[in-house]
Amino acid sequence: MPGRVTPTRPPRHLADLDPAERRAAAAELGGPAFRADQLARHYFARLTDDPADMTDLPATSRDELAGQLLPRLLTAQQELSCDEGMTRKTLWRAFDGALIESVLMRYPQRVTMCVSSQAGCGMACPFCATGQAGLTRNLSAAEIVAQVVAGARALARGQVPGGPGRVSNVVFMGMGEPLANYASVLRAVRRITDPVPDGLGISQRSVTVSTVGLVPAIRRLTAEGLQVRLAVSLHAPDDGLRDELVPVNRRWPVAEVLETAWEYAASTGRRVSIEYALIKDVNDQPWRADMLAGLLAGRLTHVNLIPLNPTPGSRWTASEPGSMREFTGRLAARGIPVTMRDTRGSQIDGACGQLAAPSPAPRTRAAETQATGPRMPQPLQISARVP
Ligand code: SAH
Repeated sequence: MPGRVTPTRPPRHLADLDPAERRAAAAELGGPAFRADQLARHYFARLTDDPADMTDLPATSRDELAGQLLPRLLTAQQELSCDEGMTRKTLWRAFDGALIESVLMRYPQRVTMCVSSQAGCGMACPFCATGQAGLTRNLSAAEIVAQVVAGARALARGQVPGGPGRVSNVVFMGMGEPLANYASVLRAVRRITDPVPDGLGISQRSVTVSTVGLVPAIRRLTAEGLQVRLAVSLHAPDDGLRDELVPVNRRWPVAEVLETAWEYAASTGRRVSIEYALIKDVNDQPWRADMLAGLLAGRLTHVNLIPLNPTPGSRWTASEPGSMREFTGRLAARGIPVTMRDTRGSQIDGACGQLAAPSPAPRTRAAETQATGPRMPQPLQISARVP
């Protein structure tokens, strides 16, 4: 597999641990085990990790407990928003300087947090900005959960336009290949979906794990017996093209990936999402739509078409509206449920495949984005920048 993980470990955090492990950790620190439950309530229910808020803990041990079990893992470096504040991308710096991004998207009926599971990505898909930079390291479960908690906190405190709200959906579609960081992603899924105050209490059915198609890991996920949605980034129905667009296809080709996906669908009863970025003259031909339809007809599935989002230096562009309509129509004609994903966040490079944790410094990049102006009608707002 391309890329290597640098062996740096983020500090241990409550969200890395299940309730029993947390109690053991609290006891190790010399306090009663129920301190762990109090801390969990602060973090997952009250969405705070500030010892000053923890008045139910003895003043003498508050800082120590919070410092040991709720260390601050991510620091906001930059925040960009668009859609009148309803879409916000945050660039985070981890303890070791690794940069990751998360995106909050508020819709009338739901709020989706798109989270990163790795700093960078080792899958090397040539149309994805994250894939171009390579893998820096896996994130810990708590670093993943922290992205959701930050969004939940901003919503709870009314910092997102539209009034106080909650995170209803989590999608593992930020930076990284979630199934290449299996153990941490699974732990994060548990923390996100465990009932409050053990976790954030978001329904498993509202969590989506998206993968390039790591077959053994999909099988492992099937065996977990969870109700999370599986999304497979297919992007081509034929191995010839998919080998190029999703290089890991050379290891696990289309037929094998889909077979494993259908096993997931059969075992969970949940529709598998097939992600397909429409790239002009590359994978958007009517014959490929027919070929895709042939692979999917009669299966428990749903196709999410994504107009390719531009990435720096890429020779590819999104399909023409006419080709997209034709492609959609051919799938629909075969009875395959198909939707076109919106390109939310594209003007702040926060849409699918655009998360790249910019270097040179984010400052410069924000300035550049401003100088060239937004690609969409809404004005670009730089709502916060933490130096
Ligand atoms: N590694 C995982 C999850 C992250 S990407 C995966 O590949 O599924 C989330 C989705 O955005 C994937 O379907 C990915 O293929 C898609 N994507 C990547 N680059 C894109 C781009 N430039 N335009 C549109 N979609 C893109």
